[in-house]
Amino acid sequence: MKTVTITEQPKIDEVIRSCQFCFVAVADVDATPYVFPMNFGYQDGILYLHSGPQGRKTDILEKNPKVCISFCANASLYYTAEQIACTYLMQTKSVIIDGQVEFIADDAEKIRIMNIIMAHYTAKTDFQYSAPAIKNVRVWKIQPTQVSCRFLGVPHLEAIKLEKAQHNK
Ligand SMILES: Cc1cc2nc3c(=O)[nH]c(=O)nc-3n(C[C@H](O)[C@H](O)[C@H](O)COP(=O)(O)OP(=O)(O)OC[C@H]3O[C@@H](n4cnc5c(N)ncnc54)[C@H](O)[C@@H]3O)c2cc1C
Repeated sequence: MKTVTITEQPKIDEVIRSCQFCFVAVADVDATPYVFPMNFGYQDGILYLHSGPQGRKTDILEKNPKVCISFCANASLYYTAEQIACTYLMQTKSVIIDGQVEFIADDAEKIRIMNIIMAHYTAKTDFQYSAPAIKNVRVWKIQPTQVSCRFLGVPHLEAIKLEKAQHNK
């Protein structure tokens, strides 16, 4: 399968912005991994997430704030010979970010970031929040320490795209 490593920031940003959610990996102090899906916001190369105040993920992050976050754009399946399994490939774009979670304490900054998260899913950028909701929410800021991006499964010119209806049979 042909894989192309992408370094241009606008292309990386486009992959991240095309995703509806990401997968966040954390590691407990005994190295037990824990991976979970999360919604996110993204602005100027910084990733923002939010959660409730308690739970397994935040318990782990209190002890080890390191995260590895994975994004995967919509995938398409191609083949060149229908009966030959190894001619099938999945075309998609993927980004992996390493970083460390900083929990935001300031209420005004929490609101600014919540609006960034909301803007990822809506056309609006200015929402109202109750004071208790803002006190309660944990807002995560991740300044990436490393970003890698790959376009996977660049199809052969004669490859045939397997349509979704066929795929769901
Ligand atoms: C598309 C999507 C987007 C989401 N976005 C957010 C978000 O932005 N913020 C947020 O806080 N949460 C989000 N969630 C929920 C998130 O994935 C976690 O389930 C939730 O945050 C609870 O995590 P926790 O570690 O505190 O759970 P706990 O209640 O402490 O976990 C207890 C146990 O429950 C199981 N568990 C927890 N979460 C899941 C899960 N998602 N699926 C299966 N088993 C699970 C695990 O075995 C875990 O050990 C999202 C879920 C989905 C599917």
